[in-house]
Parts: sequence; structure tokens; C-alpha cells
Amino acid sequence: MAKRDYYDVLGISRNADQAEIKSAYRKLAIKYHPDKNPDNKEAEEKFKEAAEAYEVLSNSEKRQRYDQFGHAGGASGGFGGGGMNMEDIFSQFGDIFGGGGSPFESFFGGGGQRGGRRVTKGSNLRIKVKLTLHEIAKGAEKKIKVNKQVVCSTCDGSGAKDKSSFHTCRTCGGTGAVRRVTNTILGQMQTTSTCPTCNGEGVEISAKCTACHGDGLVRGEETISINIPAGVSEGMQLSMSGKGNAAPRGGVPGDLIILIEELPHESLKRDGTNVIYDLYVNFVDAALGTSVEIPTIDGKAKIKIESGTQGGKILRLKGKGVPEVNSYHKGDQLVYVNVWTPKAVSSEEKDLLERLRNSPNFKPQPGRNEKTFFERIKEYFE
Ligand SMILES: [Zn+2]
Ligand SMILES: [Zn+2]
Repeated sequence: MAKRDYYDVLGISRNADQAEIKSAYRKLAIKYHPDKNPDNKEAEEKFKEAAEAYEVLSNSEKRQRYDQFGHAGGASGGFGGGGMNMEDIFSQFGDIFGGGGSPFESFFGGGGQRGGRRVTKGSNLRIKVKLTLHEIAKGAEKKIKVNKQVVCSTCDGSGAKDKSSFHTCRTCGGTGAVRRVTNTILGQMQTTSTCPTCNGEGVEISAKCTACHGDGLVRGEETISINIPAGVSEGMQLSMSGKGNAAPRGGVPGDLIILIEELPHESLKRDGTNVIYDLYVNFVDAALGTSVEIPTIDGKAKIKIESGTQGGKILRLKGKGVPEVNSYHKGDQLVYVNVWTPKAVSSEEKDLLERLRNSPNFKPQPGRNEKTFFERIKEYFE
């Protein structure tokens, strides 16, 4: 993109004097200042463009070269290099607006806490909670003893030794902020900042509480009852507002962050909302059919194995899985039927098996339309 003429950028004539240049730039800097135009790319570009124009035109040597050679007159083929960064631009402001620092802070209202009493907030507290599969499936109420910062009962959180050693901050009069008036080219400007004496809290303590050393907080234990919804999973974080570490002097306590950990079940495996169980039956049971007892989240259940069941069959127990968090949907329990092949046999067993080896019905005879193992599995997860 071709660079605009610096005089056009600032909206001034080619013979404008320094006062005009300065005044033109000041108007643009205020208009396009990022504090006034948050997340506005166009304003940011204009802000930088104006800063670059001012940088060149306010310097008599640079301005002369620019007048003679245009944008090519700058060192290494151009003025402003790859454009000015914000740091450079802000450092110009002392020159433009007079005084030190950035008067923009007060100009545009500054940041969040400026000008008011700061409300202290306790820090967040993180704990881990281990849950069994049953607790995950049903939801659980856990009573957990946590070690955390609590309000000091000796001083009631004030941090002061007694009432007389706790008083309103004399520097800021209890507002937590100090104001300073400076004279600048633009006239009087008021800057507001956090009171350095009380750190914005608005109070001063002349003698500290001996129990908490002035912190207003001590270590303590609290038993917190946590309601865990059904369906949570490993790594999930729950947050309980206001159950974290306490804050001194009437502040707001932090949050309690609960990290979920899953305890493995001895025979059931969780797969999202489904629960998987690997069932092993011998080939006599598979051939003749039987009924077996299997574990579920709710305890034992009896299931029927039909005669002629093939290994790899998947049985589905509807609704016996884990619910989705905050939803009515519930998964199933899937029972994978594995036909167990003996790994070692006695000579007697061997004789029996040998007699079956060439028996006509023991020859595998998969049907033409038999689904593949993979198809069967896929079917259950769709
Ligand atoms: Zn103060
Ligand atoms: Zn105390």
C-alpha cells in the first residue's frame, strides 16, 4: 500500500509551523488512541500513521529530507522503518502533552480499579477429587476437608491489633486512590492512581494483630460439601464460587476449583457414556447357551447367552452406562462376548476334544452374509 503524504495525514499545509504540526497530531492522537478505540484495527493504523508523520515532520532535518525526496528520503529507503511500535509512540507523548508518564490514563478513564477502593479477592484454591465409576454414573455429594486461608478470628480479618490501631488511610482519606493535577499544554489534567500508603485498601494499620501478623488471614480447615453432577470425567474442572481462600478486610473469597480424577473400576471400563465389559465364556457355553452373572454399575445382573453364540458378539444393556453431564442422554453397557479357548488341557480333556475335532458341526461354517468382526463393532458405536 502506498504511503499517504505526511502533510495529508496530519491535514496541514506544506508550510505549517511546528505549533500547527503539534496541534494537528495531538487531535489525531486523541481521536485514534487505542484506549478510546479498543479492537479497532483501522483506528490503530491511523494512530500509527499519524505518529509516523509527526515523527518526521516535527524534526526539521527529517522534514527537509522528506520535502526534497518524499518517502524515499528516510534512512534505508524510507521513514519510519517497519512502522513505529506503540512503545515508541507513547514515549512521544511526554513531548506532546507535557509532564511525564501518559496523561492518557486519566484522559480516557484509565484502567478498571483506578479511582476507587480496591476490593481484595482471596486466591483460588485447587483440590483433586477421586471418584469411582459408580459415583461418576450417579453423581455424588463429597464432603472434603480442605486446608485453606480463613479469616483471622482474633482481629475479625482486619489485621489490626485492636479497634484503635485500625483507621482510615490518611493519604487517600479511605478512597484507595490518589489524584494528582498536572499542568499540560492541554490545560490541567487530573491523574488518578492507587494509593501507595494503603495499596488501595483505604485503611491503615498502626499495630498488627499478633495472631495473623496483619494479614487478616490464618490457615484453617473447612469441610466443604461438594455436589458433583453425574457424568463428569477425568480432567474436568468444577468451580465453586467463594469457596476458595478468604480475603482480608471484608474482601471476597476466591473460588474452589475441583479437578476430577477417575478411579479405575476392577472390571468395567468407561468409554465416553458407554461402559464396556469383557465377558469370557467357554465354547461349551457358547455352543449350548447359558446364563451368566456380570457386573454392572448398579451391581450384578444376569444375562442370557444364546446357544450358538459366536465369539465377538456384542450384547447391549440399554441405559446401563453413564449419563452425559447436564443431559438426559445416558449411555449403555456393552458386553463383548469372548469365547475362551483353553490354554492348557489335561489328558482326559484332550481325549474328549480329540473326539470332537472331526465332528461335523465343529467345522467352521460362516454364512455368506456373516458380518465381519469390524462391522459388528462399528454397528454398536453408531
Ligand atoms: Zn490510602
Ligand atoms: Zn488477626
